[in-house]
Amino acid sequence: KDTEVSNADIIAYRKQHLGKSLSLQYKVPIKMVRGAGQYLMDQYGRKYLDTVNNVAHVGHEHPSVVTAGQEQMALINTNSRYLHENINELAKELLATLPPELSVLHFVNSGSEANELAIRMVKAATGQRDIIASEVGYHGNSNMCIDISSYKFDGKGGQGAPEHTHIFPLPDAFRGKYRGNNSSGKYAGEVKKQLEKICAKGRNVGAFIIEPIISCGGQIELPEGFLKEAYQIVREAGGLCISDEVQVGCGRMGKTFWGFQLHDVVPDIVTIGKPIGNGHPLAAVACTPEVAEKFANGMEYFNTFGGNPVSCAIGAEVLKVVKREKLQEHAYRIGEFLKVELRKLAAEYPIIGDVRGQGLFLGIELVNDAVEPLAEQTDYLANRMKEHGILMSTDGPDHNVLKIKPPMVFTQENAEELVYYLRKILAEDFMKL
Ligand code: PMP
Repeated sequence: KDTEVSNADIIAYRKQHLGKSLSLQYKVPIKMVRGAGQYLMDQYGRKYLDTVNNVAHVGHEHPSVVTAGQEQMALINTNSRYLHENINELAKELLATLPPELSVLHFVNSGSEANELAIRMVKAATGQRDIIASEVGYHGNSNMCIDISSYKFDGKGGQGAPEHTHIFPLPDAFRGKYRGNNSSGKYAGEVKKQLEKICAKGRNVGAFIIEPIISCGGQIELPEGFLKEAYQIVREAGGLCISDEVQVGCGRMGKTFWGFQLHDVVPDIVTIGKPIGNGHPLAAVACTPEVAEKFANGMEYFNTFGGNPVSCAIGAEVLKVVKREKLQEHAYRIGEFLKVELRKLAAEYPIIGDVRGQGLFLGIELVNDAVEPLAEQTDYLANRMKEHGILMSTDGPDHNVLKIKPPMVFTQENAEELVYYLRKILAEDFMKL
């Protein structure tokens, strides 16, 4: 059945009836029909190694996650105004991974909804609506989320920062405004400048939001000490701190379960998305009891699908699988192995200017001798890797970062295969593109 409709027909229909702003991956798009673990299969039965999908966190179509969803779906699926143990079970699993300060949860259906709710909480808890966020940050597709996402409003079709959004420079120690290991204080100073700008207008900061590794920015690791300093600046002014863990959370960092823990801070609000549903639309907001108390100001928060028994059965099972299969430890071990191998490759090919990231959330930045971005070469590499059956994505403001964020069951053998083909393609003559 899967081969009945040609890809050309699917594309032609999409062009006519689906929104033009929806994009497709690759110059020749692929139709995937099956997933298993770290692999995907197209309609011709060709197998691909997936280094892109950090949503299929514990592996595509993980059997026990599929079963958890199927079994609950056959029993009942209702909204969360009825009692059901699944929502409590998911809450318990999730709270066991978070510091005790973050003890209240709201369940929603997407990362965008999670950040949208987080900003509503900020407004209710602080009475302020001014947000400080990073350059090239992305926090979701809703109106409010776009308003705080420089990745969008500073890009094509965007109209720059709205009045209540205050952007500080991308804290990129490799190629950013301040470079090197000692740049954290300077970037924290930039956060302070934004705070002063807000105060000069007679207002105050509501919140500071950032990812612990800035994904759309090109897998930018925050300079050591930056987050702690930035949190202090914002909190002294009465603002809240939000950690967007939609991409990096649930054990992917390896060393820690959550990204903020790498920086020895505890946020007031944590937003959780993609991995927790393993592909099913499930997301969450964790916050302190103080924030939750102020948010409950009398206006009900109702969400038709958020926290339904099927989603919760799936989410609870995902977290159990992470524990049972020791995927956090696995991400640490494979991530460290891969970084060592990629750095060897960087020593052989200076076009690789930087290898960075944590656990199974890595980035490879391609630059020329003058440390200028090489977007076309990055695109060439990703497309050639696809021809070898390995899916990779590219990102960053200059489109010159290859991202590695595979399902967490990605093995050492997979890592070796990835490096083998990267080495093979890097030896091709493509510098003059
Ligand atoms: N935050 C971050 C960091 C993201 O990467 C994304 C999605 N790419 C979102 C929020 C929004 O999540 P969703 O697409 O599930 O709404």
